[in-house]
Amino acid sequence: MDGDIFREQMIHNSPNGASLESLRQLSVPGPTVTTVTKPFWDGVARGEFLLQWCTACKKWVFYPRTHCQHCWSDQLNWKEASGLATLQTWSTVHKPGHPAWQEIAPYVVAVVQLEEGPTMMTQLLIDQRNKDQLQAGIALQIQYVQCGDHVLPFFAIV
Ligand SMILES: [Zn+2]
Repeated sequence: MDGDIFREQMIHNSPNGASLESLRQLSVPGPTVTTVTKPFWDGVARGEFLLQWCTACKKWVFYPRTHCQHCWSDQLNWKEASGLATLQTWSTVHKPGHPAWQEIAPYVVAVVQLEEGPTMMTQLLIDQRNKDQLQAGIALQIQYVQCGDHVLPFFAIV
């Protein structure tokens, strides 16, 4: 689905205000950026989904770290990933851990399996009325969402 079309649908269909516009106006705390995670967050801010790639064992690594979780090599390079994933599991959040997210609750957080292999926790861009579309294994694609001062990686149904 074309990103612009999706954006329009989010804005017009969302019954609880969790549109891209309301996300843009949130004042939420940003990610904790360290020297290890900075390339990931810089990539997200540019609309690039960068993951670490181990040149020793040729496997993808996420979350960002100093040593490969597969072979313990420190030969990790940053490479652009597809941004495609499948839904593994999800949950509806009614009472967020941080009060700044309350404005858009309820919303859906999920663990997605990236096409490259690693899993990632994320928030889904989904109309609350269409939650019955969610099934394990459905195809998702990354969407870069401006949340206040930060760009965060969300996933949406393809
Ligand atoms: Zn490795």
